[in-house]
Amino acid sequence: MAEPRARTRFAPSPTGPLHLGHAFSALTAFERARAVGGEMLLRIEDIDTARCKPEWEAMILDDLAWLGLDWSRPVLRQSTRLPAYGAALDRLAEMGLVYPCRCRRSDIRAALSAPQAGAPVLGPDGLVYPGTCRGRPMAEAGPEDAIRLDMARALARLDALPAFTETGPAHEGRHHLSEAALIHEVGDVVLARRDIGTSYHIAVVVDDAFQRITEVVRGEDLFEVTPINIILQDLLGLSSPTYHHHRLITDDTGKRLAKRDDARAIARYREEGATPADIRALVGLSPARAP
Ligand code: GLU
Repeated sequence: MAEPRARTRFAPSPTGPLHLGHAFSALTAFERARAVGGEMLLRIEDIDTARCKPEWEAMILDDLAWLGLDWSRPVLRQSTRLPAYGAALDRLAEMGLVYPCRCRRSDIRAALSAPQAGAPVLGPDGLVYPGTCRGRPMAEAGPEDAIRLDMARALARLDALPAFTETGPAHEGRHHLSEAALIHEVGDVVLARRDIGTSYHIAVVVDDAFQRITEVVRGEDLFEVTPINIILQDLLGLSSPTYHHHRLITDDTGKRLAKRDDARAIARYREEGATPADIRALVGLSPARAP
């Protein structure tokens, strides 16, 4: 069978302006696809409607085009994909792998500080959940509940322990996930937040498969969530792309750029007369070659 066409994606959340870190991510995704005759797709990750704004989205698209990037249409907007995310969650519920959870952050902290609890562990999604609501039936799920994955049951359901291939410089190679690490250092992650009814974890996995992404290019800060992506792909019978986590762009003090760091917004550099070539140089990329 012929290899599928290489597809990468840039998946910004329109919660602020595009800054240097995003520009580097988008340029990397674009160039990795182009190097092998593939294409880059764009996905607007706007499930958190309280934080995402159409004005930011318009500005992001404008900055990307100004940088000289091109992407295959249509652009996928996650706010239009809630039924697909709901269907994935229903499937996991039918498999008996999720449960409703009414714990608030304060409940979780209290449970973890109980004398019999071990030292709290910080996972990719915050404190590893102590399991207070584990075993509650889905029939009890109401608007006050988040939905969590029962990690131990999920792993018991898989034929083999999950693994993924990383092509990024910091962790290049094949990664085999350990059952103990997944249970104790990742734990029962939230798959549906009570406010939006879904989560980044579900949306990213469903959409990477839907857009037939062959390599996920994103920042090193998301390396730790990759095991969650892989487990969900395995449970839902979706194919796994390879992963490329790139270095993060930091400010002069070595701190990672934040969305609210408007001084690093591409729009600001544009106002000050910078060219796309200047942006490439600022993020440490060599000059663009002609398409
Ligand atoms: N939407 C995420 C962000 O803006 C990117 C998620 C991903 O690439 O998987 O940080």
